[in-house]
Amino acid sequence: MDELLRRLVAEPTVLGDEEPGQEVMREAFTEAGLQPRDVRLDADQLRASPFHSPFSWDVTDKTNVVADWEPTGSGGRSLVLNGHIDVVDATADRLWRTAPFLATRDGDWLYGRGAGDMKAGLAAIVGSVRGLRRLGLAPLAAVQLQSVVEEECTGNGALQCVLAGPSVDAAVIAEPFPASVCVSQVGVLWFHVDIAGAPAHVGETGQGVNAIEASFPIVAALHRLEAELNESPPPPFDTFEHPLNLNVGVIKGGSWPSTVASECTLSFRIGLYPGVHVDDMKERVERAIAAAAAEHPYLDAHPPTVRYDGFACEGVSVPADDPVIDVLSTSIERITGERPPAIASTATTDARAFVQHGIPAVCFGPHAEGLHGVDERVFWPSVVQTAQVLALFIRDWCGLA
Ligand SMILES: [Zn+2]
Repeated sequence: MDELLRRLVAEPTVLGDEEPGQEVMREAFTEAGLQPRDVRLDADQLRASPFHSPFSWDVTDKTNVVADWEPTGSGGRSLVLNGHIDVVDATADRLWRTAPFLATRDGDWLYGRGAGDMKAGLAAIVGSVRGLRRLGLAPLAAVQLQSVVEEECTGNGALQCVLAGPSVDAAVIAEPFPASVCVSQVGVLWFHVDIAGAPAHVGETGQGVNAIEASFPIVAALHRLEAELNESPPPPFDTFEHPLNLNVGVIKGGSWPSTVASECTLSFRIGLYPGVHVDDMKERVERAIAAAAAEHPYLDAHPPTVRYDGFACEGVSVPADDPVIDVLSTSIERITGERPPAIASTATTDARAFVQHGIPAVCFGPHAEGLHGVDERVFWPSVVQTAQVLALFIRDWCGLA
């Protein structure tokens, strides 16, 4: 597992570069005695699903890798153990104490982009099944291991796996939720705002309209919408001080220091509570942008356009009495000695695709820090513990013979 995790972290599997990591996963599934199989992304099939997120990039040749552990006997409950191979970029290499894509061990911690989110989870999934197989055991219902792409941008990798079937009785995503079971998560909307200005020489700045500066009131208006959305969160999100975050993640604009910027594009992410439709959030976003533009002398006549590309997904929750929560909690308790709390997340995960298709899905995994930040690291003993919990859970959920 240690070696597998190091090899996975050493592959910089950012969007579009997932394949070398998937090759490592094919080898890992094979070494565990399973037959890896590709589940390719099918753009037409994805776009036909009401649960897909829009994407402007080419997904031809992108593939999830799955492996089926065939059951022996019958009477068990089937299961998917899922993890994503894609990672976000290193953000700022200069701030890291290690090279982001060189898996570096320091005591019990392993550093590297994706170490916690979530290559350690993938290693634990493989470790749990390999361990049980070494004992000569087999499940009483099918167990499918999945290494999926595009968790960090659309969730369409996991969606493709669900569409490919077969349906299962539960899914566990080994995201870094240590000593807890994540049962509820927000939805996420990505939107891109294109603002057009009017170029001019800076000697006559007043004759132009600076698109970069015109973006400031739009950002402010969206933060006011964010404040409204956080005023009275519904349970279980009322335990968070600020559950729905708006992030301006990317800004691109202008072309020259001495030219009034003629265009500017801002890319945002905002969260939404389970039960809120994506279309309703789009409408609120567009209304906030239109109102801000109406106050601007130029944007009033040349309104910004809003595009959707990437996450457009609703929040989901698994009912508190779903058996998967109780059975997994018991497995965790048996290993750690403590009953884990059921928690909610202010981020989204691939559990969504399963829940939306009637498959209860929860997250549980290793202890990690610095996700999407710098010095991302995972606590190695928690990776081993996750594999132990998952092995016990396979026994308790699927049955073993
Ligand atoms: Zn993740």
